[in-house]
Amino acid sequence: MQKRQFGKLGYEVSAFGMGCMRLPRILKGDRSEVDREKAWEMIRYAADHGVTYFDTAYGYHNKTSEEVLGEALEGGRREKVKIATKQPFGVMRDLASGGGKTLPENARRNLEATLKKLRTGYIDVYLIHSIGERDWEGIKQARVIEEYEKFRAEGLIRAIAFSFHGDYAAFTQVLDYYDWGMCQIQQNLIDVDREATEQAIRDAGKKGCALVIMEPLRGGNLAVPPAPIKAIYDSSGIKRGAVEWAFRHLLNYPEVSTILSGVSTMEQLKDNIEIFSKSDAVAGSLSEGEKKLIACVREQYLSMKSIPCTGCEYCLPCPQGVNIPQVFGKYNDGVMFGTFEPSRRGYMFQTRGKEDAGQCVRCGACEKKCPQHIGIIGELAKAHQTLRGWVE
Ligand code: SF4
Ligand code: SF4
Repeated sequence: MQKRQFGKLGYEVSAFGMGCMRLPRILKGDRSEVDREKAWEMIRYAADHGVTYFDTAYGYHNKTSEEVLGEALEGGRREKVKIATKQPFGVMRDLASGGGKTLPENARRNLEATLKKLRTGYIDVYLIHSIGERDWEGIKQARVIEEYEKFRAEGLIRAIAFSFHGDYAAFTQVLDYYDWGMCQIQQNLIDVDREATEQAIRDAGKKGCALVIMEPLRGGNLAVPPAPIKAIYDSSGIKRGAVEWAFRHLLNYPEVSTILSGVSTMEQLKDNIEIFSKSDAVAGSLSEGEKKLIACVREQYLSMKSIPCTGCEYCLPCPQGVNIPQVFGKYNDGVMFGTFEPSRRGYMFQTRGKEDAGQCVRCGACEKKCPQHIGIIGELAKAHQTLRGWVE
């Protein structure tokens, strides 16, 4: 297993980090739960085969992911690995969730619950989960970082970090605000100019901030290339699957510390470990020809979008709170990748946050502002019809 420096925190981690957000599941009627036996087997296999970084969160798998990880690592493996977990600002604010009377009390109780579930006395990397432009001001005002500093002073956590979804401008505001131990962003061969962008990788590297990549396969979509993409890969003459191409693209950045992959089967896990253990899967190993081929794959994917939304956000804010570009992004992903399954799961979270297309009252305010002249109301209805109804 390739190892990488974890920013300025002074230790190395495996280049492959096991994400515990898509553990194997068992369907029980209209609900599902983690298949614990299978999940324990996978986590233990990973820990025994060089994986030293495990990522989970307070809310993953209906708040059971931390517990499953803790159970799997108990009995000697926990001390050999780093655990990263996260608490979302919304959960800290929701005083009913942790039983506290104030946000600091609540955040502490949630952390205590997390430690208990993980069966450990400390967390190596504790993240504010999924910071975005919208809640950043609130996080600063609520002095969340100061609460995390108290946890660190008490030895309950060892590094303060954040995960991020948003654009580059918002990312730089967050990154420059504090001396973070780590930041976690979405990047993959399609999102080079999207989300925080690849420039965020360079910025974090310059600061010595450990950098963790999430969604390297875009919810697994990049693993199953449609015919035009497969043809591009095949034209390279290099015997390498789509998953490996996607990982190699990210491994090529020297600033990247670890790449999270949310594996759901033992087969995927073994496949990932094999890729990350290759002696040439290192920073700077891609040739100019390989980089050009990846750029070609990106262009082809992006040309396959169905709704011509550029994500400019001129249509926002919607008075009903609909996050129009995000709805269109999920729909386009489904068309691009030939499967709507990951998009439907993501849409479930958007629905919980009341930002889904079902909130639209067809007022028409957004359509007047769209420079692409998209028939937003009709497209939203189509997307809602396709994406709704995911059961977790
Ligand atoms: S038409 Fe729908 S999506 Fe557009 S602004 Fe009105 S409520 Fe929001
Ligand atoms: S204004 Fe149009 S192109 Fe821009 S994000 Fe909204 S729907 Fe997409």
